[in-house]
Amino acid sequence: MIEVKNLVKRYGDKRAVNNISFKVEKGEILGFLGPNGAGKSTTMNMLTGYISSTSGQILINNTDILEDPKKAKANIGYLPEIPPLYVDMTVDGYLNFVYDLKKCKLPRKAHLKDVCDLCKISDVRKRLIKNLSKGYKQRVGLAQALINNPPVLILDEPTVGLDPNQIIEIRSLIKKLGKRHTVILSSHILPEIQAVCDRIIIINKGVVAADGTADEIASSITNEHKMTLRIEGPTHTASDKVLIADAIRALDGIKYVRADMEREKGIYDYDVETDGKTDVRRAINALCSEKGWNILMLQLSDLTLEDIFMKITTGEQFADSEDENSGKPKPRINLVFDNGDTNKADKAPDEADDSSQEADEDNGGEQ
Ligand code: ADP
Repeated sequence: MIEVKNLVKRYGDKRAVNNISFKVEKGEILGFLGPNGAGKSTTMNMLTGYISSTSGQILINNTDILEDPKKAKANIGYLPEIPPLYVDMTVDGYLNFVYDLKKCKLPRKAHLKDVCDLCKISDVRKRLIKNLSKGYKQRVGLAQALINNPPVLILDEPTVGLDPNQIIEIRSLIKKLGKRHTVILSSHILPEIQAVCDRIIIINKGVVAADGTADEIASSITNEHKMTLRIEGPTHTASDKVLIADAIRALDGIKYVRADMEREKGIYDYDVETDGKTDVRRAINALCSEKGWNILMLQLSDLTLEDIFMKITTGEQFADSEDENSGKPKPRINLVFDNGDTNKADKAPDEADDSSQEADEDNGGEQ
């Protein structure tokens, strides 16, 4: 459905997008994840034909976006980060305007009704856009993208600035849309991408750092495994911590050991990471039995995507992938992620904007 080949965008000496390639199949929801400045918007702007590429190729439904932009663009519904709304128009007026602009041939009344129902904006169709809350404005933005029923939807940070309830609504709407459309969605918020997308492309500094499902990324970019041990040492004092941590550290296959808090009186937990190739449990058992220490707990836990991002954020690098020929890029990157869903929801929700509704003479619906 979408094919991107060796895409480059240069601004002066700077390569905002540096040789990106990927494919998106029909019916997939692809998440485009990366920190601010990674090159997400630049890529999306090229995908939608809004800006041209320096080099490379984009095929939308087998049509080159630069060779036949009109045909390629007819396949795309685009919601830019700032929705292109004419705020002095009513929702109805605006959607009719977009319908005409797109030269839509679908039955006008029925199609606009379907789109409004889907986006849950039927109750505000007579309202002026400027008087709608941010959540509603975003849904009107989505509605304009859906007009003419394009097979591809490209949504740039669709939940930025929304409150938690609005975020949940938009996310479930996107999931619903994913059943009928191919969707590319960009976000700098990891939980958002995990919640909505079938597949994730992590972009950093203009290059694709990882591509796959959340599980595939987790397993392809790290071989490490974590476990937590609770060990009773010989003296029941803090000196056990150093003794035990050093002894575990000396075992084959151990990458990292950190003595954690005192969990029971004089007994500590140890966070252990292995290289993922060696099962160290028996060696730890043998060590403890030789020394006369008691293992009171051993808990295995694979690294989550979140863990991986935390590691990247703190500057630690990934372990080498076992599959050298997988063709997947091995990330050597240093991303900074916001973990909160609502980090940019700095404004009060619907109610805040609702104060202006009283002044709206076209007021036709409740929010
Ligand atoms: P993201 O969407 O991931 O936050 P962008 O695609 O907006 O990132 O930006 C990628 C890089 O390209 C950034 O370093 C940004 O400053 C730069 N950039 C984007 N647009 C322009 C422009 N019009 N002129 C110069 N540099 C730009």
